[in-house]
Order: sequence, then structure tokens, then C-alpha cells
Amino acid sequence: MKIELINTGSELLLGRVLNTHQQWLCRCLSDLGYEVERQVCIADDGPSIEAAVRESLSHSADLVITTGGLGPTSDDITRDLIAKLIGRKLVLDRRIQTQIESYFISRQRPVPPKSEVQAMVPEGALVLSNANGTAPGLAIELDPNPFSAEKKPSLLILLPGPPRELRPMFLDTALPLIRRKLPLDRKFVCRTYRVVGLGESMVENKIAPSLAQLVKEGLEIGYCARIGEVDVRLTARGENAEPTVDEAEKIVTGLLGSLIFGREDELLESAVVKLLAEHKKTLALAESCTGGMIAHRITNVPGASAVLMAGLVTYSNDSKKSILGVRPKTLTAHGAVSEETAREMAEGARALMKTDFAISVTGIAGPSGGTPAKPVGTVFIALAMEGQTVVQRQFNNFDRETFKFVTSQQALNLIRLTVLKQP
Ligand code: ATP
Ligand code: MG
Repeated sequence: MKIELINTGSELLLGRVLNTHQQWLCRCLSDLGYEVERQVCIADDGPSIEAAVRESLSHSADLVITTGGLGPTSDDITRDLIAKLIGRKLVLDRRIQTQIESYFISRQRPVPPKSEVQAMVPEGALVLSNANGTAPGLAIELDPNPFSAEKKPSLLILLPGPPRELRPMFLDTALPLIRRKLPLDRKFVCRTYRVVGLGESMVENKIAPSLAQLVKEGLEIGYCARIGEVDVRLTARGENAEPTVDEAEKIVTGLLGSLIFGREDELLESAVVKLLAEHKKTLALAESCTGGMIAHRITNVPGASAVLMAGLVTYSNDSKKSILGVRPKTLTAHGAVSEETAREMAEGARALMKTDFAISVTGIAGPSGGTPAKPVGTVFIALAMEGQTVVQRQFNNFDRETFKFVTSQQALNLIRLTVLKQP
């Protein structure tokens, strides 16, 4: 199966807008076993769009997807150009015209001029309705594709630019159409395991040797390093896809154990909230250098209110003393970034909020403020619980934003591993 993706939009090339369609569409497709072979990003001018579509069609691609340029403004020319290129007349689709008009009327807005161009449809095209905007998507079957030397058929799908229009349209209408028109010739199984606390190459070292035999039999292993975590992706195709991935899964989960915090798209914060809720445990936070990021991540998870009692951002020494009860003596003797201060912060937050657990973080984000003994990137993370407080020292020498994220990741993982060990 040959799939090519064409993203149009000068704003993408100017670096004004991140080309998220590329990542999102490739991900949706590859999760189902459809792999995009080529992707191009082009300006929304006539010659560029025409050349890109012509080229993809001349590669005899089974599926060509374009994004952007279906709107009503003068730079929205994808529909016209493609109709011209494949020699199809544009005809006014009255049903879409009415839909566009009612879209504006129902929002009590005047129908803008030129909106009817969005109701122009190349002859024979299938309309993909747009529940979140006006420009419909289009699917055109070219059988044969006039640019294919082998005279093979191609499916051409035109999607609108705005992500909030493209995504539901793709999932609701384009993807079912692709699966129907271009069924995969082999079974496809893909599973992702999310790992925290070990770098990409260490993960590979740990699992690859034991998977070597399965790889010979067709298993594919993918590693994707993200900030503070690694995805391991196992895929297989064909008759034996399911048993192959099952067997690989046993090996991977056996070797990585609690380093795996979730599957597929699960986030570390979701895993933490789920675990705490299952164990009926509560949590308080005393954050300094993460500035509330741990609280932010936890409160993004539905159901967080059952487990998170308070997230205190105690940034100054005064707030560490007055809110958390850190002793002035501790601060003068050891400094705000120290094992002792982290310990007292966590214990103070736990006592104040009467929770089962309290996490504290204190560190030096930089770029200034480091010393030889405590260089920029030094962080102390403490976890207070019944009967004991554990403190970890970490070294996260990154830019401030990455520093905050990695530190929040370590704190979340510390609480996760601790709750996992609970009876
Ligand atoms: P509209 O009716 O809004 O004009 P359109 O189908 O003509 O929609 P474009 O004009 O190409 O689409 O893009 C509209 C907006 O969608 C862009 O300003 C941009 O913010 C966003 N967008 C377009 N392409 C992408 C992309 N590849 N990734 C992320 N966002 C995009
Ligand atoms: Mg536009």
C-alpha cells in the first residue's frame, strides 16, 4: 500500500504554525497498519500544489491525502487546482450550500461572501461533511489514475486545514472510507508500552536480545524516546501477528516490569491518579522548582479530586517556613535546595493536609544559582508517608521547561512506584 501525504500552507513553511497534521494523520494511519511512504509540505500557491499532487499520482499512490486550502479565501485553491488537474468540472452542491448557510445562521452570523465556493464539488466526488466548520472534505476515486504509468486506481482525499475540523472528519468519515476502499491484505497488530525511568538505549539493551528470535519471525520493535519517557512499540503482520505480539509482550513486560507505567496513549499522571484512587490514598504537593507543574498534570486527569488534596507552590524560603513549617535552621544550615529542606517540605505538607502521601520538590533550574556542590540541574524530591520519608537526589541539567517536566516526571514516578509496593 502506497500512501502519500501533502500538507499545504505557507504558514507551515514559515514556521508560524506547527504541521501537526503530519504527525497526527501518520499516527492514526500507522496504528491501523497503513504506513505513509512520503510526506511533503508545500506553500499554498498554484504551481506547488499542482506539482505535488501530480507527482504523488504519478507514483501510482493508492492513497493521496491533502490538507488545507479548502476554505473561502483567495489563498484557498486546493479544490480548484485538483479539479483542473484531474479534468473534473466543479459543480455546485446545493445540499452543502444549504448546510453552510445554516452553519452561520445557527450561530447568528451573516453568511460571508464567497462561502458558496466551498459548496463546489468536483464531479463524481464524495463529500465528507464538516461537523465543525464549513468547508467539506472531498474523496475522489480515480480509476484509472490518469498519471499512473500502470493505469492503477488512486483514492484522493482532500481535508480542511483547521485541526478541529480535520480530526473529527478524518476519524468519522475518511478513515472508514479508507478501510473500506483500501483494505489491508494482511492482519496487523500493534501495541505500545510506555516506559519511565530508563533511557532509550538501556531499554533496548534490556529487551532486544530476548526478542531476537521473534524479530527473525517478523516482529518489529520500535523505540520512541520522549522527554522523560520511552515508548516501546511491538508490531507484527500476517497470520501469526497476534500470537507473535502476545509472546513478545510476555517477554517485554517480564523484563521491564514496573518500568512500564501504561499502554498506548496513557499518561504517567493518569496512571498515578488511577493507582492512588484504587488504593484509596490521598496526596498533597509542595512544589518549588516545578512551579505547580505536578499539580497541573495531576489535575488534567478526570477524577483527580478524589486523590489530590492540595498543590502548594512554595517558591520562596519564607513560604517554605510559614506554610510548610520548614525550620529556619534547616534553611540556613543546608539551603533551600537540600535533602533536609525537601524532607521537611514533604513532611510539612503531609501534616498540614493530613494526606497519606506528600511529595515535595526543590531544585536549581538555572541558568544561574548553581554551586560546585549543587550545580544547576540539582533537584531533591521527597516523598513523605506513614512512618518514613524517602528523598531522591536527581541531576536534571536541561533548559527550564524541560527541567520542570523531567522533575515532575520523576516525582510522579516516585509516587507511582511507592503506591505499587503498597499491599
Ligand atoms: P479555512 O476555511 O479555515 O481557510 P482551509 O481548509 O482553507 O480552512 P487552511 O487555510 O489551509 O485551511 O488552514 C487553516 C488553518 O488551519 C491555518 O491557519 C492553520 O492554523 C491550521 N492548519 C492548516 N494546516 C495545518 C497543519 N498541517 N497543521 C496544523 N495546523 C494547520
Ligand atoms: Mg484557508
